[in-house]
Amino acid sequence: MTALLDGIYDGEMTVGELLGHGNFGIGTFDALDGEMIVLDGVCYQVRGDGSAQRATLDQLSPFTVMTNFVPHIRDTPPPGLRRTELADFIDELQPSENYMYAVRITGRFSDVTVRTVTKQAKPYRPMVEATGDDAELHFRDIEGTLGGFRTPVYEKGIGVPGCHVHFLDTERSKGGHVLDFTLESGIVELCPGTDLSLRLPLTTDFSRAALAPEDLDRQIHTTEIKN
Ligand SMILES: [Zn+2]
Repeated sequence: MTALLDGIYDGEMTVGELLGHGNFGIGTFDALDGEMIVLDGVCYQVRGDGSAQRATLDQLSPFTVMTNFVPHIRDTPPPGLRRTELADFIDELQPSENYMYAVRITGRFSDVTVRTVTKQAKPYRPMVEATGDDAELHFRDIEGTLGGFRTPVYEKGIGVPGCHVHFLDTERSKGGHVLDFTLESGIVELCPGTDLSLRLPLTTDFSRAALAPEDLDRQIHTTEIKN
């Protein structure tokens, strides 16, 4: 994640390889060309206008988190929860905040606010600049799936600490990186994770990247949360 913030957008792993590591995940594509969401073993690419399409197996990714999703924990939250309220609900479901959790929320949303990174050209700008002018999109009364991860703070820099989720509608036609939402009705499923395997790119750009910036917290907040 820190490499991405530093403008390392060249992918090295293919979607085909990534799917060998799980059936569920989120990330981005080569040159920051849209948001990735993998649901039920199918990888989708969401572009800057919010439109989604199936990715091909030979597309590359500079950052993806994958797992095999097994919904060990499942519950139905009260209707009409906003993102922060649902976060409190999920906190109560988690046995401990010291593990990783894949999160899947399926249902009907009265609103979902997303943004999507757009394809960058070389020389790549740092992510804080590259995401500065991304448009926010608002979907109203839409059915779909929020998928992503809750990552412990100690994993900051490897992943996005806290909750990082992407959205895809039921028709698999639109979505994005989620900034806010209200879940009208649906189910929450959690898949706890106890193993972490990290694959780093063997590229010159990565080997020269600055991976311990002093303002890491600010950069993550600006690029991932945006408020
Ligand atoms: Zn994202």
